[in-house]
Amino acid sequence: MVKNVKEQLEVLAELQQIESSIGRLEEALAEVDQKLASLDRELLQYIEEVENANAELNKAKEKYAADESEVRTLTDMIAKSEAKLGTIKTNKEYQAALKEIDEMKKSRSNLEETMIEILEQIEAAEKLLAEKQKFLEDQRAEIEEQKKDVVAAASGKKKELEKLQKKAGGIVEKVEPRLYQTYTRIKKNGGGVGVAAVANAVCQVCNMNIPPQAFNELLRMDEIKICPHCQRIIYPKEEVC
Ligand SMILES: [Zn+2]
Repeated sequence: MVKNVKEQLEVLAELQQIESSIGRLEEALAEVDQKLASLDRELLQYIEEVENANAELNKAKEKYAADESEVRTLTDMIAKSEAKLGTIKTNKEYQAALKEIDEMKKSRSNLEETMIEILEQIEAAEKLLAEKQKFLEDQRAEIEEQKKDVVAAASGKKKELEKLQKKAGGIVEKVEPRLYQTYTRIKKNGGGVGVAAVANAVCQVCNMNIPPQAFNELLRMDEIKICPHCQRIIYPKEEVC
């Protein structure tokens, strides 16, 4: 543990610097998880687009198959009705049967026209699906690559964080316990900054002037001083490195 005020201030200044770096690293690491989750969500969106395109294609194919089956049924019915024509006795019944056959043929013809349209829809849906699949695979590779980079960068940051935490622990041991308590309390109230350098009589954290009398006392460094404006522990930047 160091005793004299100048050394105490030097130790605190170094501790503050390290703790600020630790804070930045912790924030960056919290963002890593968010980034990974956001990349996963992005990929999921492309997967859903492929699923939707596939569902559209299947819907068109089912509609085509249903129409095709109905056309077959109508063709059978038309053939049977035509075969029966020869057995019809009265002209009236014959005319009625012809009319019925004609209507079935019209229905079949309408269905066949619809089927041509559905075939075009199927073709378009297949094209869209292929595009979406290609896009998904490209994006999947891209996103995996990005995730790898993010994880690799995070691993470096984690190591750096551990190193700094260890270093901070070593420095804390050098600080006089009561001063450390004061520093911790001020840091908590001061948005993570407990110590401020003063350069040219200006507090470098709150940017306010330290009155001449107080600045002269600060330069003497015979006791710990507090910024009269932001209440942080201050040290003269020119004297403390
Ligand atoms: Zn200040």
